[in-house]
Amino acid sequence: MRAGVLCLQGAFREHCEVFATLGADVVEVRTPKHLTDLDALVLPGGESSTISHLLVTSGLREPLSQAIRNGLPTLGTCAGLIVLANEVLDGRPDQEPLCAIDLTARRNAYGRQVDSFEAPLDVKDLVGESFPGVFIRAPVIERVGPGVEVLAMHDDRAVLAREGNVWVTTFHPELANDFRIHEYFLQEVAA
Ligand code: GLN
Repeated sequence: MRAGVLCLQGAFREHCEVFATLGADVVEVRTPKHLTDLDALVLPGGESSTISHLLVTSGLREPLSQAIRNGLPTLGTCAGLIVLANEVLDGRPDQEPLCAIDLTARRNAYGRQVDSFEAPLDVKDLVGESFPGVFIRAPVIERVGPGVEVLAMHDDRAVLAREGNVWVTTFHPELANDFRIHEYFLQEVAA
């Protein structure tokens, strides 16, 4: 299993470590040639407007977008979700999402008081206890399209969702010290 992690900005190292622990061959994706022969890809959390900008300057935006459209299993966490969304509210004017999953994300929507918090999440099909959701200046999913399957909710909002090959979380599963969501994703990729 060759698991790529977009390593332009943000919390990419932690995703690499989780995949390595799970036995995947980790590919650090920084240029278009790194997309060759991937079985899966992660877009990490960080700063979505910076990641969007770096996707353009690295030449990755078009080939990465094409690879996702061709079915590459892709997981976007937090800022990665914002980069993948069909529609972004409160984004920077020059921040153009990849439109790879039919949902609307509002950046930094939890406000100042609670812009970082932890919450236990009940995730569909995840065996065992609730998953520790780590939310850091997280976006809120304000709308999901009819083709999107919601796999976990928090406060009546989707926080883990999937449309075909594209998975997104508003939280940071790579910071939870719990590998079940990465495992779940890789199992579905291998299935
Ligand atoms: N607030 C960040 C953004 O808008 C996302 C935060 C994160 O990825 N932890 O890109």
